[in-house]
Amino acid sequence: MKKEIINKRTKIIATIGPASESSQVIEEMIESGLNVARFNFSHGEYSWHERVMKNVREIGKKLNTNIGIIADLQGPRVRTLMSEELEILEGDVVRICDINSSDEYIDELKKENKVIILDCPKIIKNIEIGYEILVEDGLMVLNVLDKHDEHILTEVIAGGVVKNHKGVNIPDAIIPLSTLTKKDLKDLKFALEQNVDFVAFSFVRTAEDVIDLRNRMKQQLGRDDNLPKIIAKIECKKALENLDAILREVDVVMVARGDLGIEVNPVHVTLFQKDIILKCRKYLRPVIVATQMLASMEFNPRPTRAEIADVTNSVIDLTDATMLSAESTVGKYPIEAVSIMSHISTETEASTYDDLVTDVSMDMNSEESKIAKSTYKFAKEMEAKAIVMYSETGFTARLLSQQRPQRMILVATDNIVTYRQLSLVWGVTPFLYSPDKLRRDCLEQLVLDAKDKKILLTDDLVVSVLGSTKNGKKLKLLGTKII
Ligand code: PGA
Ligand code: MN
Repeated sequence: MKKEIINKRTKIIATIGPASESSQVIEEMIESGLNVARFNFSHGEYSWHERVMKNVREIGKKLNTNIGIIADLQGPRVRTLMSEELEILEGDVVRICDINSSDEYIDELKKENKVIILDCPKIIKNIEIGYEILVEDGLMVLNVLDKHDEHILTEVIAGGVVKNHKGVNIPDAIIPLSTLTKKDLKDLKFALEQNVDFVAFSFVRTAEDVIDLRNRMKQQLGRDDNLPKIIAKIECKKALENLDAILREVDVVMVARGDLGIEVNPVHVTLFQKDIILKCRKYLRPVIVATQMLASMEFNPRPTRAEIADVTNSVIDLTDATMLSAESTVGKYPIEAVSIMSHISTETEASTYDDLVTDVSMDMNSEESKIAKSTYKFAKEMEAKAIVMYSETGFTARLLSQQRPQRMILVATDNIVTYRQLSLVWGVTPFLYSPDKLRRDCLEQLVLDAKDKKILLTDDLVVSVLGSTKNGKKLKLLGTKII
């Protein structure tokens, strides 16, 4: 792997799709700086997901690197249900019903106006006059003029062609679906069978949603620890209102700017991004910035200046990870998109603009926080090349990462789940060892392996810490070492 990729602190997620499913593309994306592969369960057959996930695992092993896998559950997303495409023009009157209406009823309506059907039962009851209905990422906008028992009457504000299975947002309506739908539960079962590292939860509304998902995971897996990490996608008003409670409960957060920019004023999304990232660092939760980062690369080999600025600024915001969606699922340049994202990240990290770190520790009085902070200061003072540590659950690694030290964080672990889940944590490069090795021996071995990979060089200074473990061993600062 290229030196600049080894040094990259901000992690990169690419959503996998037809444009990136081949082993060759996946391998080249990893070589270009990819850390995590995301599988979107809104699309694709199980056989496809299973095959490509296996491929990702194998290629990660072959390249001796930790690649995380995310299963992204669709959540309570309303979609269109159209037997044929329908063009709607500004000013058109369009009637909307849901799948509770009979075919005969819909045929009657069609005699008078154009008709859109939504795939969510009983949604019509929760839509009121004046609400906005947005179709396909807000491309088309309809305004509700009148309400009847089984349908609503709308006027088209922004037209287009309504296709089948396109996402529909109704920001003011309560969607009458549980946050985990029947489809999500089926997808979750499948994802857990595939041993995914992260489960992303779309349209999370409350902390209870997260607790419910975690309980279901525990039940299915028959264990309480080493669960996939839960990613809360912040993409609706309710999630913003309940942000603190959700953060306390969840493992990872995604600023899902696509839907968020439809559900709230898009002008506010960048500011929310900054607030959420800062809060996530406080709560020690890895955070992802997602959607449209390099959108034009779906069609063009080079991003726009504005897109470069977006990635640059997200790195300066100190996000743990940035994400590609359409750019890597259906785009023409998935490898180039990862490569450019890596390049922007490393250049920005090498600048001083991302160095001004606000002190965010929630509980600076805890012994662990104190040791993490002094380790960081010590490493800085000593101009150490890296901080090396042992971490069993990844907690200590996240504690050090929270300080965003301008040093590499090299982590030895004997837990394969931790090894993979650290793929999303800012600045951390993990190494996996067999559980029978002593923790101190792991650190010795880590230094040798890091030298092997040219991450560390002879005469480099490292600062080492021993992480706390579940059975109560405390964090210890071991000191410095010239290797
Ligand atoms: P999605 O989530 O791509 O699954 O919709 C991300 C977003 O809404 O930004
Ligand atoms: Mn979304």
